[in-house]
Amino acid sequence: LTGGLGYIGSHISVCLLNSGFEVIVIDNLSNSSNKVLKKIKSITKKEIIFYEADIRDNNSLREIFRKNEIKSVIHLAGLKSVNESLDFPQKYIDNNVFGSKNLINVMNEFNCKKMIFSSSASVYGESQKAPFEETSPTQPTNPYGETKLEIENYLHDLSKMDKDWEIIALRYFNPLGA
Ligand code: NAD
Repeated sequence: LTGGLGYIGSHISVCLLNSGFEVIVIDNLSNSSNKVLKKIKSITKKEIIFYEADIRDNNSLREIFRKNEIKSVIHLAGLKSVNESLDFPQKYIDNNVFGSKNLINVMNEFNCKKMIFSSSASVYGESQKAPFEETSPTQPTNPYGETKLEIENYLHDLSKMDKDWEIIALRYFNPLGA
């Protein structure tokens, strides 16, 4: 789980641990904290392997893949503020796009070719009328959405060129309920 100590990732961690999976979390703690790790452990009473690492750091990723037999990746790590992305687009390209490509390259090296990618409804833009379909046109209106669409397209091309890859891109809307 990349970004596994974040808002969505921490809930996925709990679900996976409670379902009997072995969970390895990579998070650079840029928008989370070690305290979340303790909470996950106290809720599940299970062990979770945690690496404080950045998905842009090749050496760390290789080390993690060398030490663990990783079968699949749920990729949540990323920056997610639409407003911040308008002020600092390059930061979003570097973290989200470069980070994802780096992760995919290392997964390729270790023959780990299953990924669930946390994309976003922001790939649709504002021109469409609800309800959105998976086939609705994509037209992001901000750099954050652009980075998600670029990663989706990269994954799409990858799965066309290498049939061993199994990829799902989930376009989340805001998951926060009442
Ligand atoms: P979050 O910020 O709570 O979690 C993301 C985690 O990724 C954080 O713990 C952060 O420290 C980590 N991270 C960021 N960059 C990293 C890097 N380079 N290397 C390693 N770790 C890194 O965000 P969230 O709300 O849990 O969202 C998770 C994913 O889902 C994001 O990719 C986001 O774009 C996407 N998403 C979220 C929403 C939403 O409403 N929350 C909606 C659509 C899509």
